[in-house]
Amino acid sequence: MEILTDLNALHDWKKRTSKDSRGFVPTMGALHQGHLALLARAKAENKRAVCSIFVNPSQFGPHEDFSSYPRPVEADQKKLREAGCDALFYPTPELIYPENFQTTVAVEAVSKPLCGEKRPGHFQGVATVVTILLNLIQPNRAYFGLKDYQQFILIKQMAADLHLPGEIIGVKTVREKDGLALSSRNRYLDTLQRERAVALSLALKEAKAAFSAGERSPKVLEAIALKRLKISGIEKIDYVSLRDGRTLTPVDHAKTSSVMLIAAYVGKARLIDNLSFG
Ligand code: AMP
Repeated sequence: MEILTDLNALHDWKKRTSKDSRGFVPTMGALHQGHLALLARAKAENKRAVCSIFVNPSQFGPHEDFSSYPRPVEADQKKLREAGCDALFYPTPELIYPENFQTTVAVEAVSKPLCGEKRPGHFQGVATVVTILLNLIQPNRAYFGLKDYQQFILIKQMAADLHLPGEIIGVKTVREKDGLALSSRNRYLDTLQRERAVALSLALKEAKAAFSAGERSPKVLEAIALKRLKISGIEKIDYVSLRDGRTLTPVDHAKTSSVMLIAAYVGKARLIDNLSFG
């Protein structure tokens, strides 16, 4: 695996492999099987797979976990090497945001609700860095997890609006055996919190089961999920919301095109999960 830390190295790698299709997996590191599932898809569908690791300062709020976000660089490189990644783009913050950087990308409607409301500026940071990375890497395909559902919808919209290079592909959420969605932030959980955290996926499953049994009221379905979170001792809940799976607008009646999304704190870890009703 080639490690590309500056623009010369990146451009040189692209030149040397210019005949090969390129699949791109952007990450913030602290890699787990979820990230590796994206890499496996990138490898299967392209001649070359390139990952990036960049903990993007502009997508963290002032009181969020930017400085404490895990950065296990050596372990990450080992995982990528073992998974057969061809190249790792590992830029410095100065490379991505040089002095006098002035541009941000704002995606309007889909960045407003849910995490957009709770984390002001977050999606502008995501949209801006993903635009920069797609422009730098120039992939044929780029892979994003459906675990970050709102992020995925936003990137799809942005890539279409701005004609960004590469097809945007969503990959199914990878979960632990008990259902907890893999996340770099699961590292923050102690044993008791880890037990509690499974409630997010249980809540989604219970709501979907009620939908499958005929319940169509978003209010009732959200209440079912909320109850599970509360019974499990999860009190700081940012949202439990049933939305249209394409536009993320609220729905009057649950349908197979709906998705339920949850964000809640377990200890200091802010966890998100979602489940499509289709
Ligand atoms: P992150 O490093 O958290 O920014 O995530 C990098 C990419 O991996 C994003 O596209 C995430 O949606 C994706 N990802 C994170 N967790 C999972 C998971 N459990 N299953 C599938 N993809 C994931």
